Amino acid sequence: MVLDQADAAAGVPTLAHWIDGEPVESLAGAAREILNPATASVIARVAEGAAADVERAVAAARGALGAWRRFTPASRSNALLELAELLDEHAEELALLESRNTGKPATLTGEELPLCVDSLRFFAGAARCLDGLPAGEYLSGYTSMVRREALGVVGQITPWNYPLMMAVWKIGPALATGNTIVLKPSELTPLSTLRLAELAGEVLPAGVLNVVCGDGAAGAAMVEHPDIRMVSLTGSVETGRRVAAAAARTLKRVHLELGGKAPMIVFADADLEAVAAGARAGAFTNSGQDCTAATRVLVAEEIYDSALEQIVAAAGSLVVGDPADGESVEMGPVISERQRERVLGFVDRASADGRVLCGGSAPRRAGFFVEPTVVADVRQDSELVQEEVFGPVLSVQRFADEDEAIALANDVRYGLSASVWTQSLDRAMRATRELEFGAVWVNDHLPFLSEMPHGGFKESGYGKDLSIYAVQEYTEIKHVMVRHDQRGEKL
Ligand code: NAD
Repeated sequence: MVLDQADAAAGVPTLAHWIDGEPVESLAGAAREILNPATASVIARVAEGAAADVERAVAAARGALGAWRRFTPASRSNALLELAELLDEHAEELALLESRNTGKPATLTGEELPLCVDSLRFFAGAARCLDGLPAGEYLSGYTSMVRREALGVVGQITPWNYPLMMAVWKIGPALATGNTIVLKPSELTPLSTLRLAELAGEVLPAGVLNVVCGDGAAGAAMVEHPDIRMVSLTGSVETGRRVAAAAARTLKRVHLELGGKAPMIVFADADLEAVAAGARAGAFTNSGQDCTAATRVLVAEEIYDSALEQIVAAAGSLVVGDPADGESVEMGPVISERQRERVLGFVDRASADGRVLCGGSAPRRAGFFVEPTVVADVRQDSELVQEEVFGPVLSVQRFADEDEAIALANDVRYGLSASVWTQSLDRAMRATRELEFGAVWVNDHLPFLSEMPHGGFKESGYGKDLSIYAVQEYTEIKHVMVRHDQRGEKL
């Protein structure tokens, strides 16, 4: 299928939805141009879905459900392991495709592939060892047991910042537990998801995984569909609110992985070299388009000036460019013209009360680039501190003591992730208890792993990706109670 070098040379390929095990054209015949954000050139045209396409995909998923959920856990596990193997075999191709559609350096997308493969392998294993209450005679004369069952057809909606990884995080637990899927990638980055579906078509029965492309209208049609029993969204807080409200009409289960505004709290005893490296990676990986990005550095006033100097130097040393320019490129563009204007608007407004110490504008070149930017001395109530920018912009603030550091860190509506930088175990443990975030790192920022949950507190959403908790999200619990003879004992 999708867009290899030969396709690119031959022109711009046109891609369809993936429904019932094959490519399916949009019923309305609509298509959308897909850009490479590093060059602003069109690299594909993709079917634009509407309610009728969602209807077809839901019908396919319903058709496949009966057989798929009756597969034994071992059979589903084997299918996921085979899919992991296929991803591994096609890792280079997928990393390149993802790089061209997102503008990320291929070194970064290359690092994502082993994580995707590992995630599928984890869910393949988890499918076989779900636990729960033991069956037993909780009431005399009756045996009770708990069945953990698939929900049915689930709808999954992903964002543009990690298209393949978000798709894998979602399909892994859903498939492991016997659900069938209608998945909608972001309208900006559907290519790797379509390729994933095509590869999955080699190992999954038709209709188990369906991909409908399109924008919020296709997503909204999924959320409203009465036959979809759960919607899992990774996206912005605003979209999360709309999805939760619409899902209420059919009372479907909702799982929301939303935005973040992660603080990085740097105490006076922190290793400043590690802090600067942590801020460089934490704030600017994927051009800052990461829900867990370290966007607010809070620094103890005793070390404020030296920490700031090192952070600015680290940000200024990033090699920015088109990933096609070679492996030395560390940071690419943001995803779109619209996103670039949005990011620059934040910086422009922040310069009224903060000091822009590096970056702050768009390099003069094709593509949607924003320079790595550090803004110091911003006020806690400023927009730059309170709102998710989703671009390569880092704010730096000072604090007087531990209580103030925690208060500033928690004083946002988001609660996805945070990090604490200190040599003191006591202080680190106090901070990890007090911080209102779904993940807290000590002396690092960003790493995640298949076994541990990922998900937010507060307006960063609810529900978990990754780990056994994600597997539980896609199941429901049925109590089966059997009355039976007591061999002569009184009931
Ligand atoms: P977005 O909210 O604009 O879109 C996300 C997805 O929702 C897209 O597929 C979009 O088409 C779809 N959508 C839009 N309106 C919809 C509606 N009314 N009903 C159903 N679907 C709809 O987000 P984005 O700009 O693509 O991604 C960036 C956001 O995602 C950021 O806020 C980021 O923090 C968040 N994000 C969160 C996590 C996490 O794990 N918490 C991970 C990655 C990204």
